Amino acid sequence: MPDTCEFLERRRTGADGESFEHERPYCTAVDAFVQPMRADVCAKRYDLDPESDCEFYRGAKGAGSITGFDGAGTTDSEAGGS
Ligand code: SF4
Repeated sequence: MPDTCEFLERRRTGADGESFEHERPYCTAVDAFVQPMRADVCAKRYDLDPESDCEFYRGAKGAGSITGFDGAGTTDSEAGGS
C-alpha cells in the first residue's frame, strides 16, 4: 500500500501558471490544491485512510458517501429546506 493517497501529487505551478517556491499538495481527484485541514488524510497520517476518511477519494472511486447517507428519500425539511 502506498504511503500517500493515490490521487496526491506535488506541484510547483498553479493552473494560472503561477510558480510556487515550494511544492504544494495537489489532488488529482478534484483537480485542486489540497486544503491544509485535509493534508493529514492525503498523507495517511494518524491512521487516517482516504478510502474511509475522504469524500473526494470515495467520489472518484464511486464508493459513495462516508456516512452512508446519500440523501435519497430525504424530504426538503430533513435536508435543511423549508
Ligand atoms: S483530497 Fe482525498 S482524494 Fe484528494 S489526495 Fe487527498 S485524500 Fe486523496
